[in-house]
Amino acid sequence: MRTAPRRFKRPTWFTRCPGLRTLDYLDVQSLHCAQRGPAGVASLAARDNRGMASTNEEVAALLREYAELLGLSGGDPFRARNYERAAKAVGGYPQDLAAIPDTALTKISGVGSSIAGKIGEIRRTGSFAALEELRATLPRGADELARVPGVGPKRALQLSSELGITSASELAEAANSGRLRNLPGFGPKTEEAILRGIGVAATDTALRTALRALPDDAGTDAIEAALAANVPAKAAGVRRGHPLIAVSDMCGDLHGHTDLTDGIVSLEGMVEAAAGRGYAYYAITDHAPNLVMQRMTTEKMLAQREAVRALGGRTDMKLLHGTELNIAPDGSVDWDGDFLSGFDICVASVHSSFGQDLATMTKRFIAAVENPAVNIIGHPLTRKIGRRPPVQADLDALYAACARTGTALEINASPDRMDLPPEHIAAAREAGVKFAIDTDAHSLVDLTNMRYGVAAARFGGLTSADVINAWPLGQLEQFLAKGRLCLRLLASSIRFRWSYGASRAPVTMAVLPSGAQPEVRGWFPGR
Ligand SMILES: [Zn+2]
Ligand SMILES: [Zn+2]
Repeated sequence: MRTAPRRFKRPTWFTRCPGLRTLDYLDVQSLHCAQRGPAGVASLAARDNRGMASTNEEVAALLREYAELLGLSGGDPFRARNYERAAKAVGGYPQDLAAIPDTALTKISGVGSSIAGKIGEIRRTGSFAALEELRATLPRGADELARVPGVGPKRALQLSSELGITSASELAEAANSGRLRNLPGFGPKTEEAILRGIGVAATDTALRTALRALPDDAGTDAIEAALAANVPAKAAGVRRGHPLIAVSDMCGDLHGHTDLTDGIVSLEGMVEAAAGRGYAYYAITDHAPNLVMQRMTTEKMLAQREAVRALGGRTDMKLLHGTELNIAPDGSVDWDGDFLSGFDICVASVHSSFGQDLATMTKRFIAAVENPAVNIIGHPLTRKIGRRPPVQADLDALYAACARTGTALEINASPDRMDLPPEHIAAAREAGVKFAIDTDAHSLVDLTNMRYGVAAARFGGLTSADVINAWPLGQLEQFLAKGRLCLRLLASSIRFRWSYGASRAPVTMAVLPSGAQPEVRGWFPGR
C-alpha cells in the first residue's frame, strides 16, 4: 500500500520525443553538461546505434587495464583508483566519446586534464604510452594470474617470476601437485584459498555467462529463468500460494552511492533518478572512513546530511541519510554509537580480511548484527560471481542473529554480485530473516538492476512481506528503529531519574530483545 509520490517534472523537450522510456530519460539525465535537451536525445540515439564495441567501451577497457597494472606493479593506489573511476565514468557516459573534442573531455566527471590527454592519445593511436610502458615491464600472464580469486597482484608476480607460471590452468596444476607450498609466504592455507578461487571461477562460469547473455532490457522472468537453470534446484524456495515479490512492489532502494565516494553521479542526480522510478523512499549510503580509498571524513558525512535534508524538502520521496559501514575484522564499525544514531539507516559490509576462518568470520558478523545501529548486512557473503569466492561463515548462526535482532540481509542486485547468493535465500527466510533488495548503485544505470535482485528473491520464494523495502515507509521506519529506539528511551529514562531524583521516581526500564525486533517489555520497580 504505497502512495504514489509526486515525480520530478520531466521537461517538455523530453515528453515531445516519441518512444522514449524512463530508462532513456535516466540516460539523458546522466548527460553531465551541455548535452541536456534535444541534443542529448540525439546523442543517445547515436549511442544506441553504434553497436557493441564503442569508443567508450574501448577507452574504458584501456583505462581499467592501466589501473589494474598500476595496482599490479605496486604503483600509487590513489592514482590507480582515479583511473578506475574514470574508466567507470567513460564506460557509462551516454554520449559517444568519438564526438567530443579533446578540449571538452574534462567535462566528464572523474576525467582530469592528465586522463583527458591519455584519452586523446587513445583516439589517435589506439593506446597510450604510459600503458605500453607498464605492459612491457610486467611478465607474461601476470595479469591473468592476478585475476584468479585469492591470488592478487603481489602473488601473481611471485608466481610468474619464481615458478614461471603464466596462466590460470598452469596455476591449478601447480597447486594440485603441491608445488606452491614451497614458495616463501605460501602455506597450505594459501594453497587451499587459491584452489577454492580456481574452483569458484569454474563453478560460477555458467551463471556468469547466462547473466551476461541476457539482453539489456531483460525482465524479471528471464533473469529468474537464468537463475533456475544455473543455481541448484533444491535451493529454490517453496511457493505457498502468496504472490511472489515483483519489481512493482518495490517502494525504495536502501543502498546506493554518490560521487562523494565511488559513485559517478551527484547526490542530486541519484535522487532525481530514484524519484523517476516512482519510489516512495530512497537511502543515500556512501562509504564510511575506514575504507581509506574512499577518503570519507566525519565532516564530509555531516555536510552531506545537510544537503540530503535540504534536498528532502524539494521532493515527496522520503530521503534517508545513511552510510555503508565497514565491518572490521573484529566486528566493530567505523563510528561510535553516538555518531551512528544520527543516521536514518546503516548498511554494514565486509570489505577486508575476506579469508578469515569460519569461526572468526561468524563472530565478526554476529558482532555487527548485534550493533543496535546496523540495519542491513550489505552483500553478505562478499562474493563476486566468478571473481571472488564467498566468505566462510556459519550461515545458520548468522540467520538466527539477524532474526533475533531485527537486522536484514541484503540481496545485492548487482548482476556481478547477486549476494546473498540465490541458493541461500530460502533457508534464510525459513530462519525468520528479513531482506533488503538493493542495487548498491554507483551510477544511474545501476538503479535499473533492481530486477536482478527481485528475480533472486522470487527464486528464493520471497513475498513482499519478507522484504523491508517493499513495505510502506512507516513500517520500514519501525524496522530501522531497531535498537536505537530502545537506546533513546533508555537515555530519556536515565535523564528522567536524574532530574527527579531516584527516590521520587522509583522506576527503571528493562529493554529485552524479543522476536524479530527488540521492544520495551515493561516498567519495573527501581532498586
Ligand atoms: Zn560494499
Ligand atoms: Zn555499496
